[in-house]
Amino acid sequence: MLSSMYKSLILLTFLVIATFSQKSFSYESTFDFSYRPSPLISESFVKESTVKSGQGLYQALRDVGIENELALEMINNLRDEVEFSKLKVGDNLSAEYDYYNHLKRFTFSKNPAEKHIVERKDGAWVYSFKEEETQWFSRMITGELSIGSTLQGELLDMGVNPEVANEIISALMCKVNFRMHARIGDQFKALIQERMFEDQVIETKVLYTAYDGKIAGLHESFYYEDSEKASTYNAHYTEEGQALIRSGLRYPLSRLHIRSGYGWRRHPVTGRRTMHRGIDLRGRVGKAVHAVAAGKVVESTYNKYAGNKIAIRHRDGSKSYYMHLNKRGVNKGEWVRSNQVIGTVGSTGRVTGPHLHFGFKKANGRWMNPLNKRMIATPKLRDEKLLALKAQVQKTRELIQDLAISDKVKYLLAKIPNRYPASVDESSELILTLNQIFKDSN
Ligand SMILES: [Zn+2]
Repeated sequence: MLSSMYKSLILLTFLVIATFSQKSFSYESTFDFSYRPSPLISESFVKESTVKSGQGLYQALRDVGIENELALEMINNLRDEVEFSKLKVGDNLSAEYDYYNHLKRFTFSKNPAEKHIVERKDGAWVYSFKEEETQWFSRMITGELSIGSTLQGELLDMGVNPEVANEIISALMCKVNFRMHARIGDQFKALIQERMFEDQVIETKVLYTAYDGKIAGLHESFYYEDSEKASTYNAHYTEEGQALIRSGLRYPLSRLHIRSGYGWRRHPVTGRRTMHRGIDLRGRVGKAVHAVAAGKVVESTYNKYAGNKIAIRHRDGSKSYYMHLNKRGVNKGEWVRSNQVIGTVGSTGRVTGPHLHFGFKKANGRWMNPLNKRMIATPKLRDEKLLALKAQVQKTRELIQDLAISDKVKYLLAKIPNRYPASVDESSELILTLNQIFKDSN
């Protein structure tokens, strides 16, 4: 991979200290979903499964016998607590059934220390969360660019998991043009926190990244955590509150086939020449429809033309529209995450058959071809969120100082690149336009 001639010795400070431990806790909340009363029979059986590569949540739920409406109910019950857009291979699902094959209890866990439980109690679904005691450890990763292998490879060699390595790289990439400005001798740092359960890392946070380059200059990013656990503001920012996320559009459906494009056409029902303000995507009734970006639901309604319709307002003021839905899974005023399931494909309203009509409006209120929408502008933190960020920046800097004076120092040798790896650009799928995505799928 690299010639030994060019191998240079890189000093890596590898400090590990325990910063805080998280106490175990559990809580319950009741949802008013009515259900058949459970029979008084004790025999029950359990189906267990793990999320497999390429599987969506609906498919994973089907593996434990949960389908269709029941699946949507489980998803709705867990939605505030579990981020299904980040479903991972290996996540665990288990479903317990009574003698009559009625679901009694559903458990979802992303790691061995946590369990999200939805169970039937007195005719209603009740959500609860159980968590084992875990500990967070911090470590600072530092390195210097030299001729040789890739930054990504080096991070992986340091024991950073691939997703975390990508997170560090994408935060840095928002500020540093690696292709143009990276030079030998440039230095990078990342402060990560790892949550341990027994001997396993079950969660990682990238609290801080820094790049100090001859040409690029000094750039730092800080992780901001909102008071709300699932907040879409949780991300990397500059100290001044500028967001460092590349946020683009996701897919509204898992399979993309355009049945009818944007622009003038003869209306399939009326036969009149009309402007088609969106695109029609082929899909079977019941297929999950996903939010293409995070935002707030501003419409969740029915009318005889659009059928069941959902509109989401995104951060840059643009809006995405989803029409002719069979089921609507979100209500007006709710916040949704990118890729969250918001309903299912249907044939409600004035249509000739089931499909998803997907539309996009610019912030100025004009319709546009959704295939041309590239990115949703990222936000800047203001007011109390900016103050909270400043406080968190202060804490992070203190933690960095504590780590620097810690006497437990481990030296490692490593090889770091002088050029940015092409593979990193390729991995940033978020900057693809839908147009590119559609081309790829056809
Ligand atoms: Zn349409």
